[in-house]
Amino acid sequence: MNATSEHPPPDSQDKADAFPRDAVIISAATTGSWPTKAQNPAVPITEEEIATAAIACRNAGAAIAHVHVRDAEGIVTCDPRRYARVRELIAAAGCDVIVNMSTGGGAGSSANEERLAPVALAPEIASFDCGSLNFGERVFVNSPAFLGELAARMLAAGVRPEIECFEPGHVANALRFMEQGVLRPPFWFQFVLGVRGGAPATVKQLQHLIDMLPTGVPCHWSVCGIGRAQLPLGLVAMAMGGHVRTGLEDNLYYRKGELATSNAQLVARLARFAAELGRPLATPQQVRQLLALNRPPMPARPSIPNRCQPDA
Ligand code: ZN
Repeated sequence: MNATSEHPPPDSQDKADAFPRDAVIISAATTGSWPTKAQNPAVPITEEEIATAAIACRNAGAAIAHVHVRDAEGIVTCDPRRYARVRELIAAAGCDVIVNMSTGGGAGSSANEERLAPVALAPEIASFDCGSLNFGERVFVNSPAFLGELAARMLAAGVRPEIECFEPGHVANALRFMEQGVLRPPFWFQFVLGVRGGAPATVKQLQHLIDMLPTGVPCHWSVCGIGRAQLPLGLVAMAMGGHVRTGLEDNLYYRKGELATSNAQLVARLARFAAELGRPLATPQQVRQLLALNRPPMPARPSIPNRCQPDA
């Protein structure tokens, strides 16, 4: 048997999975920390429900599933066994969706050590909430010391941080971490706009955040608008060439007064708009290549150029 014909060399596989120009990455945030079935019966809570929702979102066009887990009472937890169970169920179904595990806990209600726990599972991506803010009625604390520890553990475990920025100061924090080599390229940003306490969900805010990103280094961004901003900001992001997140974590409704019937319903709507805009849907394999998932980290750069600070 000719082994080379059975298994193409890695570089030709890389070529097949090359990220298409204009492709859009859809992330599905299925559960979050706080949504309940009382608010929307379609919110997946158990590991089985979350895995089923993630698979349905993949089938509807998502490449990444952003996962939170809940305990037996439906309360947010960072229990690595539950995270592992979700990932196992997805893999057992033969689904290739990228699993992005949250390290946010309850956004102000979870202990730091608990939030670090899922990183030990070496998920392909995990969230990295790049600063503190008021979050509704809570305070979501992400101290420099905590973020340094989180970044170090992610680097050691080969986890790509999803750099979640809720306001411009969080991008400034990220730039500092980049210069220190704490965060390594390629960079993957998620702009979360519309949290009460963070940046408002406006196009102006989004443009400002994009303008702060470093140049001359692989850096990609996605937008997640909260509540009623989810669809309009998602459409803006797609029109601007960025990527987009949807799902019941961020918005329980399909349109005003009408609950979404599933996470996949929200993904499918974005997929239809993407087709109209001429943006093919990125596959998980293409995203793996773009974001260098499961690969050794790129070296730190001594200087990360960016457009928001004077040369000095
Ligand atoms: Zn989340």
